[in-house]
Amino acid sequence: MKISDMFKNNKQTVSFEIFPPKLTTPIETIFDKLGDFASMKPDFISVTYGAGGSKKGRTVEIASKIKGEYGIESLAHFTCVGHSIEEINALIKEMKDENIDNLLALRGDPPADNPDFDFSKNVFAHASELIKHIRSKENFCIGAACYPEGHVDSTRIKHDLHYLKLKVDQGVDFLITQLFFDNRIFYDFLDKLITYNITCPVLPSIMPVFKADQIKRIASMCGASMPAKLVLLLDKYGGTDDMQKAGIEYASEQLKDLLDNGVDGVHINTMNRVDATQTIMQNIGKL
Ligand code: FAD
Repeated sequence: MKISDMFKNNKQTVSFEIFPPKLTTPIETIFDKLGDFASMKPDFISVTYGAGGSKKGRTVEIASKIKGEYGIESLAHFTCVGHSIEEINALIKEMKDENIDNLLALRGDPPADNPDFDFSKNVFAHASELIKHIRSKENFCIGAACYPEGHVDSTRIKHDLHYLKLKVDQGVDFLITQLFFDNRIFYDFLDKLITYNITCPVLPSIMPVFKADQIKRIASMCGASMPAKLVLLLDKYGGTDDMQKAGIEYASEQLKDLLDNGVDGVHINTMNRVDATQTIMQNIGKL
């Protein structure tokens, strides 16, 4: 089923994000968790694509299993950084052959060993070009990324919104946000989208904080700001056994507020943690 059809049926979705294990780790480490994630009955599960195209085969394999074995819709992330057109076309075909209906089409970040990667030399310099290409080949439901606080490369949020509009106009069915820790940022972002006439559904992505250093690293990489309430929480619990509980409660409060405010759906970044996801689902009344 296409995720876009869920929105057409006015469904307020609850979805999960998982990531494939490192290539040196057996794929069964995530396969073993799929049953537990599926038993929580999310509307769909998205599977990330390894930075720079690493682990790409694993994304398709896991997304295919989620759908084929557990009957839960999957969303396969797909980045084009560093790929030839032949590789991109082969991946599109593989996803089609594996019966995957939903893709999250992304440009991707520079490879870790080449932080100054020149995107103008990439087959597609921007996600919008990848989306146009996929649309010209197959009839997938296509999601794309958006950034309530602006993409880290963008010097002005209005430029980012301008390019977001161009991207959506290439045939994006829905958007998923970068993680954020202050819901007011997301509500303001929704208001800005209206002024740019971006009208597709937008799913806020929420990540629970398990460790203070983990979240500082991720937030500094993606440019998410830390509200005072979260900084105080990290000061109080960071480095203690209570950090995880406090982080789960913080994420649950964010999610409850978003759902109560009638968002199109919420996307929970599970960090592959079944136990924490179950607690969050219970906290928000979905389990
Ligand atoms: P784009 O939409 O191409 O935007 C990138 C930058 O280019 C922005 O600053 C934008 O304003 C600018 N831009 C866009 N179009 C133009 C134009 N025509 N001219 C000039 N500038 C332009 N990365 C992974 O490696 N694997 C994943 O699985 C993954 N999943 C993600 C999921 C979500 C929900 C999000 C929010 C991000 C994810 N990322 C993932 C990270 C993503 O790959 C990076 O943020 C990447 O730097 C940008 O990808 P994009 O698709 O948003 O790019």
